[in-house]
Amino acid sequence: MSGVRLDHIVKAYGGLQVVHGIDLEVTPGEFVVLVGPSGCGKSTTLRMIAGLEEISDGTLTIDGTVMNSIAPKDRDVAMVFQNYALYPHLNVADNIAFGLRIRKTRKDEIAAAVKEVSGILGLTEYLERRPADLSGGQRQRVAMGRAIVRQPKVFLFDEPLSNLDAKLRTQMRAEIKRLHKRLGATSIYVTHDQVEAMTLADRIVVMNDGRIEQIGSPMDLFLNPANTFVAGFLGSPP
Ligand code: ADP
Ligand code: MG
Repeated sequence: MSGVRLDHIVKAYGGLQVVHGIDLEVTPGEFVVLVGPSGCGKSTTLRMIAGLEEISDGTLTIDGTVMNSIAPKDRDVAMVFQNYALYPHLNVADNIAFGLRIRKTRKDEIAAAVKEVSGILGLTEYLERRPADLSGGQRQRVAMGRAIVRQPKVFLFDEPLSNLDAKLRTQMRAEIKRLHKRLGATSIYVTHDQVEAMTLADRIVVMNDGRIEQIGSPMDLFLNPANTFVAGFLGSPP
């Protein structure tokens, strides 16, 4: 298991600073949920951890190693997106295998990994299908399959369930928590859904305008919000 540590992480696009020096320590095995209004910097923060966005200032450490200038593929991190980001021309098996192919993993190892992952996610019957012929929930499972097949230690989720209906969202939420535990992963999960945050999180990080307003357990934040912003966001009276 790996911890993730952000020391005064800053992001600026051109001259415009959007993340203003975030400090956060996620302990190994922890499930941390980032919440906050649209545009507050949640995705940017995840993308910096994944290496999809350059860090303007500060230090990112994963499992004790500084990651600032390590390429995304060499970080032990996988990210699951809201829009699935599946390859439409590849079937389910090849979508899941993609991350292993680009690392030149042996064919028999790839086949074994795809079999295992599709079993875990209930996709065994759909391996030959293209994404267009799957339901929303099945597509999201494929996206998760693609993330877990490399057995990363850190999972980043960017509003992975926002495109699903309420019933499926509840079901997938439980699956994500189960996977997190089963894989012994460290997870950082972005959502704007407070029920999702309250049910999934060991700790919730409330962001606003590129800063952290408060970090605490769901109960802490609900009972002792640091300010009216946090109170408003998590629904308890100020
Ligand atoms: P959230 O995920 O919390 O909705 P984002 O991290 O996507 O917020 O965005 C944070 C801020 O950074 C927003 O003001 C957004 O407009 C800005 N931003 C995001 N990506 C870029 C980019 N590539 N270039 C310029 N500004 C960006
Ligand atoms: Mg976002």
